[in-house]
Amino acid sequence: SSPCSSVIIIGAGVSGMSAAKVLAENGIQDLMILEASDRIGGRIRKEKFGGVSVELGAGWIAGVGGKEANPVWELAAQLGLRTCFSDYSNARYNIYDRSGKIFPSGIAADSYKKAVDSAIQKLRDLEANCVDDGSNGTELPLTPKTPIELAIDFILHDFEMAEVEPISTYVDFGEREFLVADERGYEFLLYKMAEEFLFTSEGKILDNRLKLNKVVRELQHSRNGVTVTTEDGCVYEANYVILSVSIGVLQSDLISFRPPLPRWKTEAIEKCDVMVYTKIFLKFPYKFWPCGPEKEFFIYAHERRGYYTFWQHMENAYPGSNILVVTLTNGESKRVEAQSDEETLKEAMGVLRDMFGPDIPNATNILVPRWWNNRFQRGSYSNYPIISNNQVVNDIKAPVGRIFFTGEHTSERFNGYVHGGYLAGIDTSKAVLEEIRKDERKNDNQNQNF
Ligand code: FAD
Repeated sequence: SSPCSSVIIIGAGVSGMSAAKVLAENGIQDLMILEASDRIGGRIRKEKFGGVSVELGAGWIAGVGGKEANPVWELAAQLGLRTCFSDYSNARYNIYDRSGKIFPSGIAADSYKKAVDSAIQKLRDLEANCVDDGSNGTELPLTPKTPIELAIDFILHDFEMAEVEPISTYVDFGEREFLVADERGYEFLLYKMAEEFLFTSEGKILDNRLKLNKVVRELQHSRNGVTVTTEDGCVYEANYVILSVSIGVLQSDLISFRPPLPRWKTEAIEKCDVMVYTKIFLKFPYKFWPCGPEKEFFIYAHERRGYYTFWQHMENAYPGSNILVVTLTNGESKRVEAQSDEETLKEAMGVLRDMFGPDIPNATNILVPRWWNNRFQRGSYSNYPIISNNQVVNDIKAPVGRIFFTGEHTSERFNGYVHGGYLAGIDTSKAVLEEIRKDERKNDNQNQNF
């Protein structure tokens, strides 16, 4: 017969690992972690590029300096993870047009105010339930049209909604954000966490309760337990399963459920949007962009919304690295994922030559992460519709029989963030522990009756 555990955790990202750790700390030793890829970390992932560690997934510890401590910031501090303060607010004064001129700060500030007002107005309309998003053919008076308006609209909606709507992360933990700039990577946090409950040696996890390259394809569940089948034909049994795969994976057909998930569950899963967020890294033989703290972020205003709009130089994080990062989202991310990296390099160089002139050197290397086409991710993070009640996230989080759901998308307050995943894992494992305790009491009572 197949091996039976108390709990199988599917996925070894931050939520799966924090869930497993809490279980182990509470005496559940017969747990198993099944991870589809060949590493732990999930969307926390570093890669060597141009001589330094770059973060392909989560890069910032967001929400620092507020009334409550961000638990991820505390973990990072304990480990002495190297971080850099990021000040996005200057970006709006470093907006380039297609001829390389920087918009005067007055114009930038006016466009910015207009965009914020328009976003707030839209939100109020939605709240008042008289939705006019332009879809009925009429255009809102504040609809962004010019390249600078489009660029600011993109920054506002795809990066810093905080100015329009209060975001729990910033309200609770503070408004500061720190970029992780550590050769060991953001993922070092996860290895340290693993060390506390898995057998490790010389920085390697050697515990056979962690199984890598195990792609879960089927969950068969009943009142008595769950049977997990992986792509390589292995079968595992457990009393409970904690499923930490992303919302994008839940929306895909990678994992089938027998019996199928109930309607309320699948409908909730469909309602959550998947954001795609792509950081493209470019290595240069030397710097040609302005440096200094107020110049870290800059914006390219183009008539196409989101076309290589948001740029960052890595000189603050890694001086002398000569690396630029440009961020694309959603449609642009998907478009670039589908084309060759040479094509993307050509486009990015075209944009940089618009901003800095024809004489700048070509990038010597490019790195394009593909979160959308990764069948173990299917996107970057969850994004609940602005006006959605808590019912959607509660349904996504609610267990179905012995299958418990976790992951950043199950965090009511902090979805989309590392700390959201971390706290969700703790939450879910506590709910599972409660069930296990109930089972134990039931067994005790039955034994007493004999
Ligand atoms: P994951 O990390 O996705 O873990 C799920 C695991 O399940 C993965 O390891 C996956 O391989 C595995 N899996 C999938 N399918 C299967 C299967 N069938 N069988 C077995 N295993 C499976 N957050 C921040 O706080 N700050 C940021 O700056 C930030 N920037 C980001 C930038 C990008 C580009 C991305 C992608 C994310 C960013 N985030 C950021 C979000 C943050 O990375 C996530 O919220 C968090 O890491 C999610 O953790 P998780 O455990 O919920 O999911």
